[in-house]
Amino acid sequence: MPESSGRFPDEDSGWILSSAPPPDRWDDWVEYDAASWPRKVERRYALVPTICFNCESACGLLAYIDKFTGKIRRFEGNPVHPGSRGRVCAKGPATINQVNDPERVLYPMKRVGERGSGRWVRVSWDTALDDLAGRIRAAIVEERRNEIIYHVGRPGYDGTMDRLLQAWGVDGHNSHTNVCSAAARLGYALWHHSDRPSPDYERADFILLLSAHLETGHYFNPHAQRIIEARARGARVAVLDPRLSNTASMADHWLPTWPGSEAAVLLAMANVIIDEGLHDRDFVRRWVNWEAYLKAEHPEAYQRSQERGGSQPGGDGIEVFFDTLRQVYAEFTPEFAAAESGVPAEKIIEVARELGKAAPAVSAHIWRSAAAGNEGGWQVSRCLQWLVILTGSFATPGGTMPASRDKFVAAPFSKPPAQTDWNDLCWPLEYPLAHYEMSFLLPHFLKENRGRISTYFTRVYNPAWTNPDGFSWIEVLRDEEKIGCHAALTPTWNESSYWADYVLPMGLAPERHDIMSQETSAGAWIGFRQPVLRTWRERQGEAVELSHEANPGEVWEEDEFWIELSWRIDPDGSLGIRQWFESPYRDGEKLTVEEYYRWIFENSVPGLPEAASEEGLTPLEYMRRYGAFQVKSGDYRYYDRPVALPGVDGTTPSTADSESVTAESESITAESESVTAESGATGRGPEKDPESGIVRVDGDVVGVEIDGEVLEGVPTPSRKLEFFSETMCEWGWPDQAVPNYIRSHVHWQNLDRDAGEVVLLPTFRLPTLVHTRSANAKWLVEISHRNPLWMHPADAGRVGIATDDLVRINTRIGHFVVRAWVTEGLRPGIIACSHHIGRWRLPASPGADRWHSSVVELTEDGNKWSVRQLEGIKPFGSEDPDSSRIWWSDAGVHQNLAFPVQPDPISGMHCWHQKVRLEQAHPGDRYGDIVVDTAKSHAIYLEWLARTKPAPGPDGLRRPLWFSRPVRPIDDAYLVKKKESAEDSP
Ligand code: SF4
Repeated sequence: MPESSGRFPDEDSGWILSSAPPPDRWDDWVEYDAASWPRKVERRYALVPTICFNCESACGLLAYIDKFTGKIRRFEGNPVHPGSRGRVCAKGPATINQVNDPERVLYPMKRVGERGSGRWVRVSWDTALDDLAGRIRAAIVEERRNEIIYHVGRPGYDGTMDRLLQAWGVDGHNSHTNVCSAAARLGYALWHHSDRPSPDYERADFILLLSAHLETGHYFNPHAQRIIEARARGARVAVLDPRLSNTASMADHWLPTWPGSEAAVLLAMANVIIDEGLHDRDFVRRWVNWEAYLKAEHPEAYQRSQERGGSQPGGDGIEVFFDTLRQVYAEFTPEFAAAESGVPAEKIIEVARELGKAAPAVSAHIWRSAAAGNEGGWQVSRCLQWLVILTGSFATPGGTMPASRDKFVAAPFSKPPAQTDWNDLCWPLEYPLAHYEMSFLLPHFLKENRGRISTYFTRVYNPAWTNPDGFSWIEVLRDEEKIGCHAALTPTWNESSYWADYVLPMGLAPERHDIMSQETSAGAWIGFRQPVLRTWRERQGEAVELSHEANPGEVWEEDEFWIELSWRIDPDGSLGIRQWFESPYRDGEKLTVEEYYRWIFENSVPGLPEAASEEGLTPLEYMRRYGAFQVKSGDYRYYDRPVALPGVDGTTPSTADSESVTAESESITAESESVTAESGATGRGPEKDPESGIVRVDGDVVGVEIDGEVLEGVPTPSRKLEFFSETMCEWGWPDQAVPNYIRSHVHWQNLDRDAGEVVLLPTFRLPTLVHTRSANAKWLVEISHRNPLWMHPADAGRVGIATDDLVRINTRIGHFVVRAWVTEGLRPGIIACSHHIGRWRLPASPGADRWHSSVVELTEDGNKWSVRQLEGIKPFGSEDPDSSRIWWSDAGVHQNLAFPVQPDPISGMHCWHQKVRLEQAHPGDRYGDIVVDTAKSHAIYLEWLARTKPAPGPDGLRRPLWFSRPVRPIDDAYLVKKKESAEDSP
């Protein structure tokens, strides 16, 4: 292999470019053809970078384009991508399967006959675009903007759709977040506004995972490689997981907690750390809003702390806080946590000590896992981050950074104003603190006639399959009164597109443009997803006007689709939409995708123009050539930076840095605005609130005074890390204002084990698959195509089940039948089933790929639905000879169909874990059978809904202004109007 050019080593990590072609040879890379061995037959390749789209990590890929055939031969890792550093998981190279999948959709299709009849005709893009544009234009002109909804599963972009929807003036963004990460996000956001963690694994001394990052996780490959490196240099790893994941098996400590007991364990660890003096007293004194807590909840203690100097550097008022914590959290002894979790007290103490001694280099992560499974799961991430803060490991080398500091969102050439509407179908009053849209409840909202959708876009989203309670989705997807037109933007057929009106083929990872940035490590980078064949052709000097000219069939890329659609919605510009899609370089002309990214790279990415210039390239050429750029290095202890104040050193306040480089910027601004509105101060110099220490200039919060110095702080109302959340008090949850343990709905006390009741964990990922988007990758499917039910021998013995036996799992709305796998890899009382598998299609109609789906019959009787598998996976004929060599037949079981919705009353997160009854299959049961009653699922939805505390909150708001919100509307839209308040509030 050729040696590195030496231009791109990551000096911090010691990584050397040695396992991939150096960039200066990417135009003409020569290899011998492996299939021709022992003859030496040369193959010449052009290597073009792009970004993987088989999970959220956004690893860099290199497309190997055969210069003779002009076809993509394979994908490997891009060695100059700062996040993935040339490495990929199995799903990255499998992108080639998706590109060559004979089952993929290549032309726009329109349904004929009734929705769901399974009959389709090929139509032109003009037909589809004109029809959709007419519908959307009518909705906008007739002030029915809230009838337009764009529902995305995996957003492969940063900001593009926000810009589009705001150009339309539509509050119609809907996401998958509440079946994924909403709970963890709330826990983090309450601490420091940013709602995700970014652990600095590379430099960590102790890594605490409530996840399975070595095999899946957020962000799998970039994180896994850094955790492995940390371990190799001696970092210790502890994993809390009821299941022996690959990650747990590699850890120094596996703590198999009972599902939902994790917060109790973490609070017990906090007690050990405080009792043994392993906490960072001074960090907590300076940066935690402990005085506000004492003042609000323990006024006598507050008085005592003030008498002992409060938070002043020389005093020891902070000790009163720690004394108070000892009393408030006295219940959380290691013994109590052991009783709750089943993990021995000695193990909890041992891990707590190791963790405390590793301060301030403790990296911790949770994303789905316990947060996504349990009622109150958001308190698990809140307690986890408490350990990080307590040990002073917040935003330190080796510690845990808020994600927004390790992410860069580049601004486009123009930004439409925020929309004025608020869409209750996405943001209902009942969930004012949800992170984010209550998307998985949409069918129930539509059934309750809370609204109607005239145009519904789904993108990288298969709601009937991915969400719980899929039959409720099918009931509304097929109802033209509730959803006027459904356009599925998808590369492949899926269970939901079956009920669409249009199926519009969209490009895969190497067939479209996007910019990605993920918090994979300390610092921030951007990656450029690009259509590799288009780029290669352009390198050859060929003119390519639109990406679909280089893509297979008539596959469009989304950017060009949305530009064209917007242009047709407002062809003469009279609606004010067209202006946002006019070129920044050519007056009044339609924007091209090249111009869109060219402007961003020339103007919005610090350092990129200079780096490009050094190589004699334009910024766009640089990104097309290398596919990634490191924007900044680790922003450690950013909160501790002094703020330059006007009149003090003659400069303006230095908040620009924090706002220019992070995804938080929009919300920081919004927060500042709200504070401005409250203070009413204008045109004045620095003003300090004597109690909180918050400093404003012209009414805008610029920092907080600590130990006599004005520092940047974190973007919370107190500008400090909020142990105590006044927001939770104001919005009706004073009992949850501080890190706390909420007993899960699947707490062991709620189980009748003798009656076969167990807890089902349906959330774990497989390393080789992601939801519905990897089903058209034959290599991956060959590896993973079954989802047997994990169960402990004790449970199997109790019910009389052996490996491969059929078992019936009874949920509250029905049951499903699956095969057992008896293993000691999880604790007794718990069963587990991966959610990636169980794809299905209906007979003789387009549906999920044949590589990975069974043929099923759906039967409907009133509210009762049933699924029966008619045949499994079989070989089939196609232009890919491998399709006739398929040897596997099992497609797994679609368990999510049998799950009721269980929205956490506070975070809005669907609580995936559930109490189920395990029994032997009944006579007549067949593998893959599913039976569901959607009337029961609606009743359960109402049960959970009744436990919410709806808006309005303080000042008549729908949601705290300082919370972030995707596609944020104007502040006035946050107000619950009087009429709504009277009529709509439950
Ligand atoms: S972790 Fe794997 S699937 Fe995810 S982006 Fe990286 S290579 Fe692709």
